Amino acid sequence: MSNMHAAVLHGRHHMTIEEVNVPAPGPGEILLKVERAGICGSDLHIIESDSAQAAVLGHEFAGTVAELGPGVERFKLNDGICSLPMIGCGRCVHCLSGDPAHCPTTRMIGMNMPRNGAFAEYVIVGEKETFLLPPGVDAALGALVEPLAVGLKMVEAVHWQPGETLAVLGAGPVGLAVVVWARALGFGDIVVSDPVQARRELALKLGATAVCDPSCEEVAGLCDRELGSAPHLVIECIGRPGSLDLACALARRGGRVVIGGLHMHEESTRRIVPFLKELKISYCMMYEARHFDYTLKMLAQGRIDPRPMVTHEVSLSELPATMAALAQPNAFGKILVTPGRLRS
Ligand SMILES: [Zn+2]
Ligand SMILES: [Zn+2]
Repeated sequence: MSNMHAAVLHGRHHMTIEEVNVPAPGPGEILLKVERAGICGSDLHIIESDSAQAAVLGHEFAGTVAELGPGVERFKLNDGICSLPMIGCGRCVHCLSGDPAHCPTTRMIGMNMPRNGAFAEYVIVGEKETFLLPPGVDAALGALVEPLAVGLKMVEAVHWQPGETLAVLGAGPVGLAVVVWARALGFGDIVVSDPVQARRELALKLGATAVCDPSCEEVAGLCDRELGSAPHLVIECIGRPGSLDLACALARRGGRVVIGGLHMHEESTRRIVPFLKELKISYCMMYEARHFDYTLKMLAQGRIDPRPMVTHEVSLSELPATMAALAQPNAFGKILVTPGRLRS
């Protein structure tokens, strides 16, 4: 193995398909042959930011073991695998508890950092952060484990109890992953707002009990109509200035709000609303190894089916144009890239 194709980001909105060297796995590392890699909202944030630097993005992926680095024991060649997109130190309290995202020296994979990501034919992953795909879970499902783990941690963070109602703001891939889990874990009422009709339809398909278009109907109105009152729980998956206030305005007194969306702008909020309502607000970042483990079990047992989330598959050479299309308002769900296929 010497060369491979990769989508290299050189700066703001400047991504080209190039031949680069196939990286060699170091101790405790695995060379993963990428079969599917998902495009994430954060890839779009990176590509639109002025700080975009030479990097290969792609942090939601699955594939097979192509080469084992020294000392790797848990996997063998051609195993189907997916990985947390990071390589922790393996020794700190966070790594030892399966939470390498909080390791102070963790090296992120495919997030505009030194470690190249999965918009390439091969990517290096860490053995500690890697999971075997169980029977019945192919690479297309394996590439959805990362966004599903994001949604799972958010649903965990609302501490739902039977009888409590949930509103999900935004039905992009993260909002849809939240809906998948809320349905699977038994939530009774799941209302979702999103301005894009195709996404509202996907939300209904994946388990939402009611949806609305916030550009025509206030979410609060939908909640009054469908739930009879304001929701106990609100999960915000919009990630734009103002969406924190929106979530707080919607929740009922004593309710719980999880902020899952991210943006890099300054945001002014009105403290009085969550103050008077005594809301419990939490923020949710990434996931731990156990969220991957649980997601893989639920997929293997057929207890969640996220496949409808995927609306498009593109080849590596189609990726730059696809990223440009995603920067405009669109009706895409999750898009999977097949890096082994240069052209469709
Ligand atoms: Zn992501
Ligand atoms: Zn560590």
